[in-house]
Amino acid sequence: MDLLERITRLKEQKKAIILAHNYQRPEVQDLADFVGDSLELARQAATLKDCRLIVFCGVRFMAETASILSPEKKVLLPVSEAGCPLAEMVTPEQVKAMREKHPGAWVVSYVNTSAEVKALSDVCCTSANAASVVRNVPVSKILFFPDRNLGWYVQQRVPEKEILVWDGFCFVHERFTAAEVKQVREKMPDAEVLAHPECLPEVQKLADGIYSTSGMLKRARQSPAQKIVVATEEGLLHRLKKENPGKEFYSLGTAKICPNMKKTNLEAVRLALEREEPAINLSEELLQSARRALERMLKFL
Ligand code: SF4
Repeated sequence: MDLLERITRLKEQKKAIILAHNYQRPEVQDLADFVGDSLELARQAATLKDCRLIVFCGVRFMAETASILSPEKKVLLPVSEAGCPLAEMVTPEQVKAMREKHPGAWVVSYVNTSAEVKALSDVCCTSANAASVVRNVPVSKILFFPDRNLGWYVQQRVPEKEILVWDGFCFVHERFTAAEVKQVREKMPDAEVLAHPECLPEVQKLADGIYSTSGMLKRARQSPAQKIVVATEEGLLHRLKKENPGKEFYSLGTAKICPNMKKTNLEAVRLALEREEPAINLSEELLQSARRALERMLKFL
């Protein structure tokens, strides 16, 4: 039996579903039941009744988010060391210290944070809804964690609020440069350039549009441009090409790769399914507090 058959058989036996983030390896995306951004996947999993086990092919905070929204299901992260350096740039102690320093301010946390940081937050946000969430928060002062570029993006769109932005960043998205955008403009003047809000402000300013990964997928379908250049992790190209066979897609400059996102391979998925580990194991109290911040986000949209 080949590897794919074994995974399919195990999946059926164990009533499991496989979720893959848009940045995963192509073969992992092709194997998955659902491919998407972290929140999209976690919400999708929460609606599935006949499922006992979730295999989350992504990084730790994503599997935790799935567990927060599906506490009755067991969630596996096939490679336990697959973490997100951005999420690790803020600790619960740092959030508590900022709260003490700024009483009355609301803590808004990007989903790229640990469950502990979510539990200390008033509300969460995604890159797609960050500006809308901050606009709707009922106070004028915001402590925004942890991404400084997404924070800058929100500051531009919600100038009426005082937004103190934490100094974290995604080392993958920060590697895109304004010079790379200028080069593309010269070499491919008919291409549309889409940047993720985790990119540097100077890249965002030069792009044709700023989009989350799900926003880029939507824009790619609707755009009249035949050539689209994306400033985000290169894994998204697989889905962009698959869904839009008539168009051409490129990474901005050299391809930027997140090594954490590429740690999961088919063998790791098979082993996780067979052993039912490594599993996400969060306390009931933590799950409840973190869920409150995620559910409040959905009310603010
Ligand atoms: S691409 Fe950036 S934000 Fe996403 S997992 Fe990698 S380091 Fe974290």
